Amino acid sequence: MTALDGPYYRLEVADVIEETDDSKSIVFDIPDALSERFAYRAGQFLALRVEVDGHRLVRCYSLASAPGLDSQHKVTVKRVVTGRASNWLNDHLAKGDQLEVMPPNGIFCLRERETPIVLFGGGSGITPIISIIKTALQTTSRILKLVYANRNDRSIIFKDELAAMLSAYAERIEIVHRLDDVHGFVDAALVVQQVGPKTDADFYICGPGPFMDVVESGLASLDVSPDQIFIERFESPESPVAAAPVDTSRGTVVTIKLDGKETAVAVGEGETILAAARRAGLEPPFACEEAYCGCCMAKVVEGRVDMLGNDGGIDQRQVDDGWVLTCQGIVKGAARVEYPD
Ligand SMILES: Cc1cc2nc3c(=O)[nH]c(=O)nc-3n(C[C@H](O)[C@H](O)[C@H](O)COP(=O)(O)OP(=O)(O)OC[C@H]3O[C@@H](n4cnc5c(N)ncnc54)[C@H](O)[C@@H]3O)c2cc1C
Repeated sequence: MTALDGPYYRLEVADVIEETDDSKSIVFDIPDALSERFAYRAGQFLALRVEVDGHRLVRCYSLASAPGLDSQHKVTVKRVVTGRASNWLNDHLAKGDQLEVMPPNGIFCLRERETPIVLFGGGSGITPIISIIKTALQTTSRILKLVYANRNDRSIIFKDELAAMLSAYAERIEIVHRLDDVHGFVDAALVVQQVGPKTDADFYICGPGPFMDVVESGLASLDVSPDQIFIERFESPESPVAAAPVDTSRGTVVTIKLDGKETAVAVGEGETILAAARRAGLEPPFACEEAYCGCCMAKVVEGRVDMLGNDGGIDQRQVDDGWVLTCQGIVKGAARVEYPD
């Protein structure tokens, strides 16, 4: 294990487990010295930094392990068609390799309630959901229901582990498998039917975009309050974005060091550093763009940068060390920021 300069730590891969034909789990042993730094809540994720074809990519992967119940940290990566990091991790990673990993982050977590929990998972969206289920079964007495959609029977990740939970907690959890090749896609009517009278539940949704949209519209038709709905979007950053015109005449200039190269970028008034960097054709790391994942962190080495918000993506110690979330970073006068090497 090595602490790198910045938000990443180099961790050794303790194991790689083949889950299905197109997904593998990566298991980490966390050294004692990092146990506090890598403590997590069910539903949180790790950001991994990998180098693929000379490009540094940062990607988030939810922890499928459960804190306090599983001794190791485990993430599960499903191949995305033509996806760079997911295929690289599936093809090349082996036990004993080292990976650059950012400590856990995320807000897709359990909250204190007595009400039921209804979870909708699609494909690899099961990863944070299984962690939440394991934790809720062990640490609460809440009733759970999982609706889990997959293309076919062979693509069900954690099938055996879920079956084991069902037999251990038959009176508390119900699991409904939906297979595209047998039942067709999940639609809003099915969502309504599966929720039944549990409209007071907390709802957790994670899966492909169209799946999450359908679940959301089903819940909306039941008048479920938005504060009962938790959504984790597994989106991958587009690269690079089409540049929307921005008036930079009243803004300033930020010098950005990324992958060893410095670029002076004109910033529009109120524009974030991340937006300006992407508009300039750079490919900085980022994921959520909502101040909770921490992937876009950079260090301010000159000048002043204020953050519009911070939803847990960066901690006070990092702020004190000069780090900012560039998705929230507004430059106050000329400044210089460096993404981690
Ligand atoms: C909080 C969070 C948690 C996540 N947890 C998990 C998890 O547990 N398991 C999991 O498998 N995934 C998870 N993801 C998704 C994961 O982070 C990656 O987005 C996913 O693995 C795809 O990354 P990639 O590099 O393989 O794909 P990319 O190379 O980024 O490509 C993604 C898609 O975009 C298309 N694409 C790429 N570049 C371009 C371009 N220039 N123009 C047009 N299209 C393009 C590709 O064809 C592909 O379909 C999570 C994401 C988030 C935000």
